[in-house]
Amino acid sequence: MKVGIMGGTFDPLHIGHMLAAEAARDSYELDEVWFMPSHIPPHKHAAGVSSEDRLAMVKETVKGHECFRTLDWEVNRGGVSYTIETVRMLQEHYPDIDLYFIIGADMVQYLPKWQGIEEIVQRLTFIGVGRPGTPLDLEELPSEIADKVVLADMPLVDISSTMLRERAAEGKSIRYMVPEAVFNYVHRSGLYGVQPRSAD
Ligand code: ATP
Ligand code: MG
Repeated sequence: MKVGIMGGTFDPLHIGHMLAAEAARDSYELDEVWFMPSHIPPHKHAAGVSSEDRLAMVKETVKGHECFRTLDWEVNRGGVSYTIETVRMLQEHYPDIDLYFIIGADMVQYLPKWQGIEEIVQRLTFIGVGRPGTPLDLEELPSEIADKVVLADMPLVDISSTMLRERAAEGKSIRYMVPEAVFNYVHRSGLYGVQPRSAD
C-alpha cells in the first residue's frame, strides 16, 4: 500500500493543503493520504488555536474523501513534533507501507535543516508541489536529498494559514479559501477572532 503523509500545522487547514494532497494522490497513485497535524512544529512558533481545534477541523474535512484519513499521533505525543520520530514509529507500526511525505515548495527548500533528514530520506520519498513565492528548485539541494524528491503538478494557490488568520482577525471573509467544514467550524467556535454564531 502506498501512503502519503500530509503534515502541517493546519492553523487553519486551507484549500492549498487539500489540493496538494489530491495532486500527490493522483500523480503517484497513492492508496491513502494521512493528514497529520503537528503539535508544536520545529520550525515555527506554536499554533494560534489548540491542537484539538486544528485536529477537529482536519477530521471534519477529510471524512469527505474516500482516500483521506487523519493521523493524530503528533498531537497525542505532545511536545515538539519531529518528523523523524513519527516516521520511525509509523514504519515500526506499518512495516509494509510504501511511505511518501507531501510538502510545498517552501518546505522543499527547508529540507536540509530538518532534524534527521539523512535518515528520513532513507525511509521515504518526498512529493513536492509548487507554491507561489518560492521556486521549486531541486538543484539547490544536496543530491542525497534531491534524489528522494519527486514533483507533482498542482494549480498554484496563493493562500497561507498566516494570511487566513490575518484576514479572519480583520473581519474579512475566508469563505472558499478553506474547506466548507473548516469555515463552519471556525464560525461555530469563534476561532481566529471571528464572532461565534449559533448554527442555523
Ligand atoms: P503558515 O502560514 O501558518 O505557515 P501554511 O499555509 O504554510 O501555514 P502549513 O500548515 O505550514 O500551512 O503547511 C503544511 C504543508 O502544506 C507544508 O508542506 C506547506 O509547504 C504546504 N502548503 C501550505 N500551503 C500551501 C499552498 N498554498 N500550496 C502548496 N503547498 C502548501
Ligand atoms: Mg507554513
